[in-house]
Amino acid sequence: MLDIRVEKTTSPKPIPDKDNPLVFGTIFTDHMFVMDYEEGKGWYDPRIVPYAPISLEPSAMVFHYGQEMFEGLKAYKTEDGRTLLFRPDKNIERANNSNRRLCIPELNPEDFLQAIKAVVKMDEAWIPTKEGTSLYIRPFVIATDPFLGVRPSNTYKFMIILSPVGAYYPEGLNPVKIWIEDEYVRAVKGGIGEAKTGGNYVASLASQVKAHDEGYSQVLWLDGVHRKYIEEVGAMNIFFKINGTVVTPKLNGSILPGVTRNSCIALCREWGLPVEERQISVDEILEAAKSGAMEEVWGTGTAAVISPVGALRFEEEVMQIQDGGIGPVSHKLYDTVTGIQTGKIDDFMNWTVE
Ligand code: PMP
Repeated sequence: MLDIRVEKTTSPKPIPDKDNPLVFGTIFTDHMFVMDYEEGKGWYDPRIVPYAPISLEPSAMVFHYGQEMFEGLKAYKTEDGRTLLFRPDKNIERANNSNRRLCIPELNPEDFLQAIKAVVKMDEAWIPTKEGTSLYIRPFVIATDPFLGVRPSNTYKFMIILSPVGAYYPEGLNPVKIWIEDEYVRAVKGGIGEAKTGGNYVASLASQVKAHDEGYSQVLWLDGVHRKYIEEVGAMNIFFKINGTVVTPKLNGSILPGVTRNSCIALCREWGLPVEERQISVDEILEAAKSGAMEEVWGTGTAAVISPVGALRFEEEVMQIQDGGIGPVSHKLYDTVTGIQTGKIDDFMNWTVE
């Protein structure tokens, strides 16, 4: 149990009004959670303080060797005014898996949850209530030793910042166009692909820029060894429904284990749909799309929850999926997950935390 010191802001910012589009990641609330770490001392001085710039030495290790971990989850307001977190235990577990891979000291899971709850409660008035909106929660740890040698840092800062975000699809679910990357790779087994850390995202930028320039919204990565097996999308895991079976790449060490992915597998199984977690080659996808066996394709992630995929491009071929429309399983998953998250439907999976 953390003894969290609280320093309230003396100059609160105006809370965005109902019509603000709340563009993702642009607005931050009044407060943040901070806790420090020192080798031998452990995590210390948990506090909620006004959201403000922090001061670090230019030599702080995070700037040079990227030793950092981050997470992303959301808080939702229900119609009866309760605040719900969606499976925070899963994000906390993944954060500590990332920490271990990145030689960052682990965080006590109960303390982590207490910190999230405390800072969300402090800025509860910032949680938007309009359909599809939420409060995005960004916990992260950075290495702060002022040192230019390459080794794990001895000091760290753990912070949680909060950002109200608008509906991902203000006009309703909208299929996205995906670019299957055949030049760059994101991660390899044995690397850091399954950790949530900045390095994986900077590795993706060149490809993302190329795809955007061609009119595609996200990149689908192939494996780094054979360059033929499907891995995941820029910020989503990927699902295919082929001949009545739901198929998604097996977690192999280079794919981020998404919380939404895990939830969708559980729901499909609950509904009696066959689900396979296995290797899927890009050739299998091309063939299924050509023969008409490909029924649906969708991505899963905290930001959009479900993103139906309307088109997939590989080299010079463009595959149209569902005639660019939205399939029934994608739709049912979207309605069910968002319904549970916002308290609109009974939480029969026991996933929300008040
Ligand atoms: N893959 C990557 C690379 C991601 O950044 C994300 C977003 N966190 C996901 C998958 C989906 O994970 P989640 O469902 O936990 O948001």
